[in-house]
Amino acid sequence: GPEAVSVIGLGAMGSALAAALLDRGHPTTVWNRTAHKARPLVERGARAAATPGDAIAASPLVIACVLDHAALHAAVDPYAGTMAGTALVDLTSGSPGQARETAAWAAGHGIDHLDGAIMTTPPGVGRPDMMFLYSGPRAVFDAHRPALAALGDPRYLSADPATASLYDSALLGLMWSALTGWLHGTALVGADAVAATEFTPVAVDWLTAVAGFMTTYAPQIDAGRYPGDDATVDVQIAAIGHLIHAAEERGIDNALPGVLKSAMERARDAGHGGDSHASVIEVLKGAK
Ligand code: NDP
Repeated sequence: GPEAVSVIGLGAMGSALAAALLDRGHPTTVWNRTAHKARPLVERGARAAATPGDAIAASPLVIACVLDHAALHAAVDPYAGTMAGTALVDLTSGSPGQARETAAWAAGHGIDHLDGAIMTTPPGVGRPDMMFLYSGPRAVFDAHRPALAALGDPRYLSADPATASLYDSALLGLMWSALTGWLHGTALVGADAVAATEFTPVAVDWLTAVAGFMTTYAPQIDAGRYPGDDATVDVQIAAIGHLIHAAEERGIDNALPGVLKSAMERARDAGHGGDSHASVIEVLKGAK
């Protein structure tokens, strides 16, 4: 039958993880610092552990999702000596350095550690299209893949434990840039009385084209050559001028397009005016 799993941390996210495991029939043990948060899960069939140590002892796979790195260590450090051979999948958000630190701590205690990043919010947990990113030993991922698949779409990235956190930060940066670009555009058309619900379906379709540009540009970046045969930096500097002008006329904040224009101008000044937009990465990479 489905693998027994323990979940440490029953905040909004940990509770969603435990619920998804219960939905897929995994015998699930839960622990939370504030005990009453286990109650709704116990009503759905979970077993409540009195201590993190009891939760760790109950299952070969322990999934932790607490506030931060310090909270993880506060919960599990006292039981490290009992955890040899246990798989610890840490879905707590943290920095790449913290993931490496936890991996070294785990290795020192014979714990099979994977670091993970959850690329959704609690309502998305359990959906097969929501990505969960993992890094650490491949064998640990493979051994527990069926249980991890109860949470979402498990994606193994690399043996370096830092990689999942690094992708998490990079992908959130993409999300904030895209969302803020969409909000800026929505404010711009909104100034001419276009509703957000009218503009957004067009914006969503546009993202498909933008994803295509990313796919075209990725090999250019790996090759360090940016043929401007689709649209040049020079052409796009002119185009962003129209955005800035239209926003200015409507009293819309122009800080975001200002940052984007400045990056393109620095790429142009570095000799990339005739190259594709991917050449802006040479500016972002900074001084060598
Ligand atoms: P919540 O604030 O809802 O839950 C925080 C959890 O951490 C609670 O279980 C809390 O216990 C526990 N905790 C805090 N400090 C300690 C401590 N010192 N010792 C033991 N337990 C502690 O946050 P979320 O559930 O939303 O987030 C949890 C993690 O998941 C975070 O790292 C977050 O970045 C990550 N995440 C969240 C997403 C989301 O959409 N919510 C998306 C992707 C990642 P108590 O109940 O006792 O306070």
